[in-house]
Amino acid sequence: MSAAENVFDQPIRREKTDVLIIGGALAGLSAAVAARRHGGADVTVLSEGEPGRSGATLYANAYITSCPPDKQDVLYRQILWTGGFLAEPALVERLVQGIEAGNRQLMDWGLPMQKAEATRMPSGMQMELAPGQPKGYLLGQTVAAEARRQGVSVRSPYTAITLLTDRGHGVVGALAVDMQAGEVTAFESGQIILAAGGGAGAFARSDNPPGTVGDGYRLALEAGAELTDMELINFNVPPVGVHNILDRGPGMIADSGGAHYFLGGIGIDAAAHTGVPGLLAAGEVTGGLFGAARLGGSALAECLVFGLQAGETAAAEGKGRHVPGPIFEKALAETAARWKEDGDHGGQTLDSLKRDIQTVAWTKSGYVKNEQTLREAVAVLTQCSAAAERRASSSVAELAATAKLRSMAVTTLTAARAALLRCESRGNFWRSDYPQPDLVQGLFNSIARIKDGELVLEKRRRAHPMPGRSAPIRIGPGCLRYNFSALE
Ligand SMILES: Cc1cc2nc3c(=O)[nH]c(=O)nc-3n(C[C@H](O)[C@H](O)[C@H](O)COP(=O)(O)OP(=O)(O)OC[C@H]3O[C@@H](n4cnc5c(N)ncnc54)[C@H](O)[C@@H]3O)c2cc1C
Repeated sequence: MSAAENVFDQPIRREKTDVLIIGGALAGLSAAVAARRHGGADVTVLSEGEPGRSGATLYANAYITSCPPDKQDVLYRQILWTGGFLAEPALVERLVQGIEAGNRQLMDWGLPMQKAEATRMPSGMQMELAPGQPKGYLLGQTVAAEARRQGVSVRSPYTAITLLTDRGHGVVGALAVDMQAGEVTAFESGQIILAAGGGAGAFARSDNPPGTVGDGYRLALEAGAELTDMELINFNVPPVGVHNILDRGPGMIADSGGAHYFLGGIGIDAAAHTGVPGLLAAGEVTGGLFGAARLGGSALAECLVFGLQAGETAAAEGKGRHVPGPIFEKALAETAARWKEDGDHGGQTLDSLKRDIQTVAWTKSGYVKNEQTLREAVAVLTQCSAAAERRASSSVAELAATAKLRSMAVTTLTAARAALLRCESRGNFWRSDYPQPDLVQGLFNSIARIKDGELVLEKRRRAHPMPGRSAPIRIGPGCLRYNFSALE
């Protein structure tokens, strides 16, 4: 193919599946197992990285929250308090109710786990893998092996680049790049689960793998779903104390710390629906479960509980979501034409755009920010996003790289714009121009969606879930510690 050609001039391969899952780590593979078990549906997982050996799951320390029945109420309140009361109570309830069953599943699939030491976490509230075992690797491998045992079709390396939707029908499929065959493939499916992980890799400094740049956020937004709380990001920070950091402001951000975990993400209900018919989501790609901060071990619990839930929902609802062939073909033709049209081969290179996005996201919109740095970030990221949208691709590798760049731009831009709405500091979210929580005006969730082709952000007010509680709102770095006595 010559450089001037467009990748969409080539034929697009077609495949069909009942349930399509995007992401081959803890959330996606758990969903796949549950979908097979609950309906015997034909389930396909597309994974950019090697299934069970990719995503943040691979790097996890593998502490997983546990919760015996008599502790559910206290853990529920602890999660709401830790998140500065911004979490969605129905999601927290679903999490605490599902944790024990989720952990039992992991052990049934062959993962050796034992109680964590009471000194690390309150006794009975957390589990860890047996000492000496490789951590996230063993976790991922266990779930990947179970998915294969259950007959899931696990496909890799595939990079999903966009979803196919129909105005009346909702989601009807996805377009992906088969990186090995060098082909664009269209998957027809009326039931899709997004489990592509978070977006911490979109920042110049991060402990996440490089592909974790928020593909799921872009795919969901483009399909018509809402993102919630994208400003709420968990950073590792230099060990100099929160107040010191807030006093010194964004100027102190340098070569230490990094983005760790996206607390915000795709808005879901307790059954993992996104609001777009046929589109479900699970794992770090979702938002609303934790609010402004989370407890250690709870991210893996989230992936497991909501992964299993999403798979169960997909199996239960999938049979009623047959996609008529002409609707799929029309959605595919329109989407391919849009991606083809976007065409511009010149301008800034992909690598240089990527560097600009990552650097500005980190330095202007990192762990401490203010109105001025956020406005600077929004200006640069808006330009980068427009440039990424204009790029045409002359090879499938370039198409996949362009899609990742678009995700990076949209993810960081949405996070910076949402951060401008939040004039306070709460949990892991710190603004040097507003160093205290705003107990009245801060009680909202930011909502991002695409309206008439434009990214729109708004505040959605939230009622206090525990009115009258005297425990002060927590502000701190990383995963906050369990502290049950504060709420007794
Ligand atoms: C260093 C580190 C330590 C951690 N330790 C803990 C811990 O001890 N306890 C805890 O609870 N949490 C921990 N976390 C957080 C936790 O690991 C993650 O939140 C969790 O693993 C996310 O799982 P996931 O399945 O949602 O996504 P991920 O594990 O990030 O997986 C995403 C999957 O999607 C695939 N993918 C991405 N984009 C595409 C695309 N476009 N097309 C197809 N596939 C795609 C990836 O290849 C990957 O397979 C840690 C995180 C890190 C980085």
